[in-house]
Amino acid sequence: MARLIAAHALLTDGWAERVAIDIAPDGNIGEVTVGAAADEGEYLPGHVIPGMVDLHGHAFQRAMAGLAQDRPAGAADFWSWRQRMHALAARITPEDLWAIAAALYVDLLKGGYTTVVEFHYLHRPPEGGSYEDPAVMCLALHEAASETGIALTLAPTWYARAGMAEEEPTPAQRRFLLDLDGYGDILGRVERLFRDDRDRRIAAAAHSLRAVAPEQLPAFLAEIDRRDPQAPLHIHLAEQPREVEQCLAVHGARPLELLADRVPLGPRWCLVHATHLSEGERKLLASSGAVAGLCPTTEADLGDGLFPFAEYWREEGAWGIGSDANLVTAAAEELRLLEYGQRLRRIRRLIATRPEQPHCGAALYRAALAGGARAAGRPVGRIAPGFRADLLHLDGRHPLLAGRSGDAVLDSFVFASGAGPMIRDVMVGGLWRVREGLHADELRTRRELARVVDRLLE
Ligand SMILES: [Zn+2]
Repeated sequence: MARLIAAHALLTDGWAERVAIDIAPDGNIGEVTVGAAADEGEYLPGHVIPGMVDLHGHAFQRAMAGLAQDRPAGAADFWSWRQRMHALAARITPEDLWAIAAALYVDLLKGGYTTVVEFHYLHRPPEGGSYEDPAVMCLALHEAASETGIALTLAPTWYARAGMAEEEPTPAQRRFLLDLDGYGDILGRVERLFRDDRDRRIAAAAHSLRAVAPEQLPAFLAEIDRRDPQAPLHIHLAEQPREVEQCLAVHGARPLELLADRVPLGPRWCLVHATHLSEGERKLLASSGAVAGLCPTTEADLGDGLFPFAEYWREEGAWGIGSDANLVTAAAEELRLLEYGQRLRRIRRLIATRPEQPHCGAALYRAALAGGARAAGRPVGRIAPGFRADLLHLDGRHPLLAGRSGDAVLDSFVFASGAGPMIRDVMVGGLWRVREGLHADELRTRRELARVVDRLLE
């Protein structure tokens, strides 16, 4: 049993001083005791908080971060971005995916994420057909996570058709497409791979109502429930106005209405990019307990629109944050952009606060922890017995954290930046992965990434 002594720690019922955190050999938190002596364990002089969950990401898209910022010949919209993303997806091998993901996961860890949820639909070889091991791309993500130490919730994603209008699949989409049996094979293989690993969890995803027809959802759910009736369920929902219009034209209902009509919407669900909601849909989502998967940087980058967060916050809906296309890998930046979008929209300050939670940064961080843990299906997000020892140690000597205490520390962590990294150390499952702001593999994984990107852009 290892023991940390945190000078300050964010516990379930608030901040405490001189907190002894016992960590069992399996990486779970054991006893948590307030008022310990500094010499009773490894002393951490700063502020210890739970690590954040990145509830939605596509690792391979890190290879094109920053690349689609030049004007294409036609419209510069989501759909032209998607063409470029698909062109990249069409070339990536399992080895490429491993290298891209490993470098990404180092950056995510340094950015304060201790769990990543991979919404993973790149299943087949570029040349068509099947890999000998149908889960070889899943294996690449698993190995990248094992090497770098981030905890992984893998959501193998079912992509059953090219689009709502029954169009022909593009060459890139042929890599994504599976029938339900093929999808089940991948789940079975991942189950064996993840068995007895406490830092792995399987979730399930239907790519979108574009890629999975509403009438296919019951069979999809039956397949998942047969394997794990608690598995978190993810879907891309209503990212673009065009997909809402198409959904209305084809199905006579908006995406969330349609989904809620076909599946029991509840806390198992994470609806990613639930951007374009009617008032009724928003209230339905908030009262359902499902998690809104918000990806502020990607949604801004792609010109998706703003999720009605101010209203949703008042309705106490569950939500968390995702790095999605991985342009940005810092949890604090996503939370800041989420809040700032609403301040600009509403022409007022401090949206994510309540009378009992006056500190905006702290309120954002706590809420995103709770929603993220639910979407990842992992016992994380709290410093309490039985939860994973997934922790961030913020640098108490950082000039922009000096002189702060309690929730004001989280306000500065979320809203202030520069003057060096605030995250000093990162622990996942009881093991230190980042120390003094550095990850042991960062130089090597960056070199590998550069090599792969060079080749992909040739
Ligand atoms: Zn996505």
